[in-house]
Amino acid sequence: MLEGRIALVTGASRGIGRAIAIELAKAGAEVIINYLGSEAKAQEVKEQIISMGKKAHLAPFDVSNFEEVKDAIKDLEKKVGTIHILVNNAGITRDQLFLRMKEEDWEVVLRTNLFSAFYVTQGVLPMMLKARWGRIINISSVVAFTGNPGQVNYASAKAGLIGFTKALSLEVASRNITVNAIAPGYIATDMTEKLPEGVKEAFLREIPLKRAGLPEEVAHLTVFLASDLASYITGAVFHINGGLYRG
Ligand code: NAP
Repeated sequence: MLEGRIALVTGASRGIGRAIAIELAKAGAEVIINYLGSEAKAQEVKEQIISMGKKAHLAPFDVSNFEEVKDAIKDLEKKVGTIHILVNNAGITRDQLFLRMKEEDWEVVLRTNLFSAFYVTQGVLPMMLKARWGRIINISSVVAFTGNPGQVNYASAKAGLIGFTKALSLEVASRNITVNAIAPGYIATDMTEKLPEGVKEAFLREIPLKRAGLPEEVAHLTVFLASDLASYITGAVFHINGGLYRG
């Protein structure tokens, strides 16, 4: 389905990004695995993809650093080739009630979850424009729609990604480039593992399907959006949350 396509997945060493990298490769794509510090985990993802007979590359860079992103993407274009599929997935949380939130907690979350999409997409978009084909998939969150106490920084960043998705989709539609967002609910990864037990139980009570989602379930939707099957979908937001929020 994705043979001949090159995909860059940010934050692909763990969790949802890891599953997306592996599922894109299963669907035929050559995959670039971005990460920040988890070298060994990223290497495992690469080896898993190579063992499937597919191509994979490691690309360590900090998505929140404009200069670093610019240099890394130039290098990738030279060494790997035209990137056709971009998944802006890397993200972090720094939860704190608003009045106690430090400027640093605000800034690092905005930079990593939202500014990163500007940095990475600006680097990759010229390649898609030249190819007259592209898929950009931004990983937002259900909290962009529902809010969540302790996550004013994170909810702001994830809501920003929705506006980013809609505005950019209009700018590039005529070049056959689609831009969509996925808003996952409670997915079992390192990010949610560190939540207090009470918060996890409260989530599970609220979820009609009565379980956390799996990273692979988000990855399957991503593969669909990256494929030609989704060629008429752009500027859209997909909720994947076990019924927790129904748009
Ligand atoms: P995770 O398990 O904590 O993994 C985060 C990934 O992002 C890691 O690969 C990490 O790399 C990478 N990363 C963090 N900061 C980075 C930076 N500055 N530069 C490059 N890479 C960086 O998170 P996850 O749960 O899979 O979440 C993935 C995305 O889904 C995030 O955007 C998150 O906000 C969103 N999301 C998650 C949930 C959920 O329930 N889990 C729900 C809604 C939305 P290292 O391993 O090198 O640190």
